[in-house]
Amino acid sequence: MIRNLKESINIKDLSPKEIEKFITDNGLEPFRARQIGKWIYGKGVPSFDEMTDLSKDLREALKGAFSLGDSIELSEEQMSKDGTKKYLFRLSDGNQIESVLIPDKGRHTLCISSQVGCSLGCTFCLTGTVGRIRNLTPSEILDQYLLVNRINGGTVTNIVFMGMGEPLDNLDNLVRVLKTFTDPNYLALSPRRLTVSTSGLVPKMKELGDQISVNLAVSLNAPTDALRNEIMPINKRYPIKELIKASVKFPVPTRKTLMFEYVLLKGVNDSDKDAYDLGKLLSGINCKVNLIPFNESQPLPYRSPSRERVLGFQEILMSFGINVRIRKSRGRDILGACGQLAAEYPVRNTKKSRRANEAAV
Ligand code: SF4
Repeated sequence: MIRNLKESINIKDLSPKEIEKFITDNGLEPFRARQIGKWIYGKGVPSFDEMTDLSKDLREALKGAFSLGDSIELSEEQMSKDGTKKYLFRLSDGNQIESVLIPDKGRHTLCISSQVGCSLGCTFCLTGTVGRIRNLTPSEILDQYLLVNRINGGTVTNIVFMGMGEPLDNLDNLVRVLKTFTDPNYLALSPRRLTVSTSGLVPKMKELGDQISVNLAVSLNAPTDALRNEIMPINKRYPIKELIKASVKFPVPTRKTLMFEYVLLKGVNDSDKDAYDLGKLLSGINCKVNLIPFNESQPLPYRSPSRERVLGFQEILMSFGINVRIRKSRGRDILGACGQLAAEYPVRNTKKSRRANEAAV
């Protein structure tokens, strides 16, 4: 049973440092916080009463201050023909979010959501058509991983913040979650297995990089400001030059490479000229480019380019010495692929999507 948000703070909403502060504020030794972390995340106990190496007084104090249940509830699981699984979760206020588990050779990647909806309105993304409803709390973000990992026998190896929402638009909670994921006494995941995707909130990229080093995937999708302004309105605030400058400065983990994501939209950003412009833009930058043929979803107006067009685009980029991969589309039949998550919210036929429709025809 999930608790109402107003009832009490879920202890999973606190970062390891914040739990430690609670402990020291109560006059106890900091190592008690590490014990608590191990009980919650290592052993997954459902109540404070089971933390048997803590004093009764501390357990009572924890019970008085926090809750420790699941903050989200699984309402539906769907399996794609290709083995991808999509999970629909209900939140305590009735809102819904989705997470997608993508199994692959030797790695099981979980794509998690950071917001209900998204305000940034990228014209090729279903979540963007929902609009922003609210930020997820840290426990709601963490529980997507904890629940899916539990359901799948602890097999999740990698986490990408590419589900619903712009993670950097929920920066404080994102940082709390990343600290919990990476703390050796909490979830102890290597930062090399965590990837944050952003549409380009430039000042927040710096703020994130000042606090933690994880993989960064920048959703670029156009080689010029004129085109990017059309399909990603955020570009009007933070144009490409500023975005590239912030991206190359971001501290990715050792031996990891900055990634740029490029969704290929037929007749919009997939021409030879676009590929040459992109090659010139990224040439000399230590990066990888992931090409993502658009996953067609109603009511979005765009179409996916042909296989030949995608290969032609890749070849031009490679002629600039750029490392380019074509991302396999996974979970398309269950609307679990990139840009298809809307958690059953009604999507809006916005002015922008109508304009894009006209451009794509
Ligand atoms: S692509 Fe990302 S940033 Fe853009 S609307 Fe979708 S969820 Fe938001």
